[in-house]
Amino acid sequence: MADTPAPVIDKEALKQRYAEEREKRLRADGNDQYLQLRGQLAHYADDPYTAFVQRAPVADHVTFAFIGGGFAGLVTGARLKEAGLDDVRIIEKGGDFGGTWYWNRYPGAQCDTASMIYMPLLEETGHMPSEKYAHGPEIREHCVRIATQFGLYEHALFHTEVEDIRWDEAAKVWTIETSRGDCFTAQFVGMGTGPLHVPKLPGIPGIEDFRGHSFHTSRWDYAYTGGDPADPRMENLADKRVAVIGTGATAVQCVPHLAKACERLYVFQRTPSSVDVRDNRPIDPDWFGEIATPGWQDRWLENFTANQGGLTMAEDWVRDGWTEISRRVRTKIMQLPPGEMTIEKMMAVYEDSDFEKMEEIRRRAETVVQDPETAEKLKAWYRQLCKRPCFHDAYLQAFNEPSTQLIDTDGKGVERITEKGVVAQGREYEVDCIIYASGFEVGTEWTRRAGFDIAGRDGQRLSEHWSKGMRTLHGIHAHGFPNAFFVQPTQGANLISNVPHNLTEAGRTIGRIVAEALSRGAEEVEVTAEAEQKWIELLLTAPERLIGGPDCTPGYYNNEGQPRGPEDKLNFVGYPAGALAYFRYLREWRDKGDFAGLEFR
Ligand code: NDP
Repeated sequence: MADTPAPVIDKEALKQRYAEEREKRLRADGNDQYLQLRGQLAHYADDPYTAFVQRAPVADHVTFAFIGGGFAGLVTGARLKEAGLDDVRIIEKGGDFGGTWYWNRYPGAQCDTASMIYMPLLEETGHMPSEKYAHGPEIREHCVRIATQFGLYEHALFHTEVEDIRWDEAAKVWTIETSRGDCFTAQFVGMGTGPLHVPKLPGIPGIEDFRGHSFHTSRWDYAYTGGDPADPRMENLADKRVAVIGTGATAVQCVPHLAKACERLYVFQRTPSSVDVRDNRPIDPDWFGEIATPGWQDRWLENFTANQGGLTMAEDWVRDGWTEISRRVRTKIMQLPPGEMTIEKMMAVYEDSDFEKMEEIRRRAETVVQDPETAEKLKAWYRQLCKRPCFHDAYLQAFNEPSTQLIDTDGKGVERITEKGVVAQGREYEVDCIIYASGFEVGTEWTRRAGFDIAGRDGQRLSEHWSKGMRTLHGIHAHGFPNAFFVQPTQGANLISNVPHNLTEAGRTIGRIVAEALSRGAEEVEVTAEAEQKWIELLLTAPERLIGGPDCTPGYYNNEGQPRGPEDKLNFVGYPAGALAYFRYLREWRDKGDFAGLEFR
């Protein structure tokens, strides 16, 4: 059989279309278009999952206090307990452990990086994920499993928000104050508050006027919809007209369930997501038994990271959408004549590969969605890494359900909310319920999202230290903030496709440093100003990141299309040689045992 010739791609026409679509969506107010959940909107942030329990304020001392009970707190807490610390206190604004998996219980919530590498500490806990991409309830249970196994419940404070942390120079401890009146001290503090944890609402006129029911996807109201995260059939919606506002990664996962449940579902779209094949399947216990030999999860993490970036030719065990992006680019680069392997040529090859992939994804919309007009509107006109790439096998299909209608706003967004419903393109859609799939704050200051502004030596606030951009060693230590650790990806591996890998490595590192400090009897451990400066200089040599370039359609990956200041690079940068090289570097740095750049006093 003859090969089907590859369709010819008119690159110039595509570039022009991408630019036009971007232009439609640019708005001068950038991040300010979104509303903070304050005042009359504060109730959108209330916890619908766990009852608030009164307790007496805490006023004691612990060796380690960690802010955030998500993956960062769990993996760091586990390593600290392994290092022999009895009193690790995790402070968490939710009612239990889980972080993003505590809050995001919307129907269909599922990890979109393979469970084998996404779910932390699988080997230590002996848990076999049930699916290639596990669903939310299993991931949340896993968080509880980690916390239970490592004894992290004992000192934990839930439904508690840190309001202030100050370094006490005389006592060499941190003083921590919370929303529950707690005031206690800790020798060390860790911060893992997460990148996407403060829900935001779109600044649509009239949002407070709506008389029906409404909620944000991260506070799913199962009391209203019926069902639960494990069985999200939502029988109460059978006679309801529902609007979903937003079509990002969250909407892609919950819309298929809503389409089945609602009498009428309107999906209000400003920018379509790119939605590629998911191909989820159960994990075979026999296969798992064979591969899960000692050290397996580290090997898998390394294999994914190697395949996801760089020019490695290692066998790809994970085989997902992320490694596919790299495989395609790599194959094309390897076909370049040896004399043409320049950065420019490689970037051109990467662009070609992107055009091809996006054309495939657009064709997928045409193939899956029966109504050609709807299919056309579901096509994403931008490069794949301009927005979070999505993978799903029921989202596009949902638009074939008679209940479901796409309301495309041609890049303009919803016009207004009224007492009765939602107005778009001049037409009012009356609904019983509005579900805001409008995402989380990203472009705002770290301290605003964290809810506190830690004060280090001489009372210097973190916002001052970072006023010209983030400054750390390894993304973990900041000069002037002794005994304090950050657990997050930036200025380290910056591996966005599998954030937990960044966190587990940071957790390991912190466990080792704290054990070292305690064994030396050191009261303080702090990065020197020189080591921090050298690290910053190294980071500034990194190439521009591939996600969310300035030519991209606006979104949280590119500061909503607004220009960034020169120092802003530091807020997004990773190790110049890439994630795999960083993890290897960090392991060696740790294993050497002299912790170069840190001072123990
Ligand atoms: P996003 O910020 O990605 O999406 C918000 C949506 O709201 C966008 O479609 C946006 O449109 C839309 N919107 C904003 N304002 C308006 C308006 N005025 N009118 C109409 N629409 C509007 O939030 P998500 O919660 O979907 O996802 C956030 C992130 O969380 C993801 O990018 C991903 O990193 C993570 N996530 C991960 C998952 C996983 O791993 N399994 C699953 C879900 C989320 P526009 O695009 O035009 O701005």
